Amino acid sequence: MKIILENNLDLTKIKHWVFDLDNTLYPASSNLFNKIDVRMKKFIIKKLKIEPDEAYKIQKKYYIEYGTTLSGLMKNHNVMPKEFLDYVHKIDTSSLKVDIRLKKALKKLPGELYVYTNGSKSHAIKVMKRLEINKYINKIFDIENANYTPKPSKESLDIFIKKYNINPKEAIIFEDISKNLINAKKIGFQTVLIKNASHPDKNIQVIKEENINNKFIDHISYDLPATLGEIYLDINH
Ligand SMILES: [Mg+2]
Repeated sequence: MKIILENNLDLTKIKHWVFDLDNTLYPASSNLFNKIDVRMKKFIIKKLKIEPDEAYKIQKKYYIEYGTTLSGLMKNHNVMPKEFLDYVHKIDTSSLKVDIRLKKALKKLPGELYVYTNGSKSHAIKVMKRLEINKYINKIFDIENANYTPKPSKESLDIFIKKYNINPKEAIIFEDISKNLINAKKIGFQTVLIKNASHPDKNIQVIKEENINNKFIDHISYDLPATLGEIYLDINH
């Protein structure tokens, strides 16, 4: 059976379903990532003993130059990753809502399900438990697994696919940041961009990137649970 959706995705051979965590498995409107963003700034203020405006500039500069703020802090200020990750992920997750459509869709996807995040494993577990999807996704690849080399680097992706012996031709990845899809698409993944209007970095470069990176995006989803539901229907027809 050949499974082709109207959106350029051919899911016939998909065995590996790879999901980014923040702003992908839950909507940006939950404002969870904004809380992490604020904690990052606070961390920099305290650690580098600088003013909030300066801290924010450094935070975004490192994010753009190194892929994550953490990576820039490690390289330029010898920040210990665990200290940073524990601090920034100390947030209230009560704004996250269980989406029954997401639970149903994940439960029915055929193959292996992964979370691939630039955050920490404990944060991923906390979020997934809150969303009640932890029993459907049992493989978590976090920033520690990637030797603190973040997406969008090829190195991070290589470590990921090697660890789980993933053939990219049999894999699909879902992400809210388009530049994180480029290397995946280059090696054969199918790619889905999750569009989130309230992404905290929308004013910096995300929107511009989406235009530049269009050829690396097979499909744009405005609602992940709906897209996954559509995939399920298609596989079972
Ligand atoms: Mg994300």
